[in-house]
Amino acid sequence: MKHPIPTRIYITQEEMPEYWYDLRAEMKEKPDPILHPGTLQPVMAADMEPVFCKESVKQELDSTTRLVPIPEGILDFYRAYRPSALIRAFYLEKELGTPAEIYYKFEGINTSGSHKLNSAGPQAFYAKEEGLECLSTETGAGQWGTAMAMACGFFGLGLTVYMVKVSSEQKPYRKAVMETYGAKVIPSPSNTTEAGQKILKENPDTGGSLGCAISEAVETAVKTSKCRYVLGSVLDHVLLHQSVIGMEARTALDKYGIKPDIIIGCAGGGSNFGGLIAPFMGEKIAEKSSTRFIAVEPASCPSFTRGRYVYDFGDTAKMTPLMRMQTLGNGFIPSSSHAGGLRYHGMSPVLSKLYHDGYLEARSETQTGIFDAAVRFMKSEGILPAPESSHAIKAAIDEALECKRSGEKKVILFCLSGTGYFDLSAYMSYNAKTLTDEIPTDEELEQGFASIPDIPQNR
Ligand SMILES: *Cc1c(COP(=O)(O)O)cnc(C)c1O
Repeated sequence: MKHPIPTRIYITQEEMPEYWYDLRAEMKEKPDPILHPGTLQPVMAADMEPVFCKESVKQELDSTTRLVPIPEGILDFYRAYRPSALIRAFYLEKELGTPAEIYYKFEGINTSGSHKLNSAGPQAFYAKEEGLECLSTETGAGQWGTAMAMACGFFGLGLTVYMVKVSSEQKPYRKAVMETYGAKVIPSPSNTTEAGQKILKENPDTGGSLGCAISEAVETAVKTSKCRYVLGSVLDHVLLHQSVIGMEARTALDKYGIKPDIIIGCAGGGSNFGGLIAPFMGEKIAEKSSTRFIAVEPASCPSFTRGRYVYDFGDTAKMTPLMRMQTLGNGFIPSSSHAGGLRYHGMSPVLSKLYHDGYLEARSETQTGIFDAAVRFMKSEGILPAPESSHAIKAAIDEALECKRSGEKKVILFCLSGTGYFDLSAYMSYNAKTLTDEIPTDEELEQGFASIPDIPQNR
């Protein structure tokens, strides 16, 4: 079959964006400021610099620069694996019999297997520039830890990764990749930090959680000389780095005069979705487009669709600053699911604000539903998707089927955030029909909400 346009719409390396796009600059109402947990006043750079690299703090606190130049050292890092392909899903469209055009930006073609490398590179680069020697971080399913291990290997920095204990047991291959790149991987909770010791004392058999691993990583950064902490999602500077996805997609679509009607992404902390939508949402806010934006989250961890828009901590030990975001409460521990990268109680403050103000929609999907969609996708498109990304696939398929019913020829764009090669145990469960859907009850959500701090801003 000859296609009217190529199935892979590449841009050249010369056409790669040289700027990141900060969506906040376009927002009429900005997200609420991050608060110091002690004083409840907006945080200052000096409050954050003991924890984060200086440049990350600067980017985090600057909400007015729309186009941020990407330093040459980071462009050079990006050129090792970018631009990523923008693919026209002709085969999926045919399988669905839809008049819709479906496009996806595939971020899984690098060893870490996901978009996370797009922010890992810049964060390691800035740490090196600042003269730091090592970084610490946490990883849930392992994608962020792997991306950071690659970036630290590239820029010559040490790295300690606190890996949620259940994942380190379930995903030994992830651990092997990180260690091969030179990272030190510690299952969390561990005895290496006070936060870990405290959690272990209260709950010796716990399999750990992302919130708890964050507490350990932050503590390590603060207590180690020339070491800082890096986070792989949620924060504004991470979304900024991920805007490379949207900027590339925009350049590629413009080449063919294509304007998306619907843009979809899975949302854990919101970075791949926030990165993809950045320039397109900017246009919508400026009232130059009427594109719809859909964030898709797991029914087991529904921070958009069932969460609250309040100030909350980013971690279980309540050490981080307070962010106003869609949250299930820092004490919420989602049931184990195969979309490990989406198991976080909170959500990007930028996306939370946009959701609150009606600029984007959100929906939740069950595990069994997203694996059905994943298989349908891989059989037609040939790519094995990550379970996280399959949330976006599910919504793209549903929207395309809606077009089939209505006869509308909409243009759908989604982010295929990663590959599923490290998630084969999930596919094994799917094949064995042992996957279950664990949807929290209202009572379980109440327990999480009870951990939200009772501060005047939340009353
Ligand atoms: C981590 C991860 C996600 C979720 O993170 P966001 O910050 O919401 O993008 C989604 N997909 C993949 C493949 C991931 O590794």
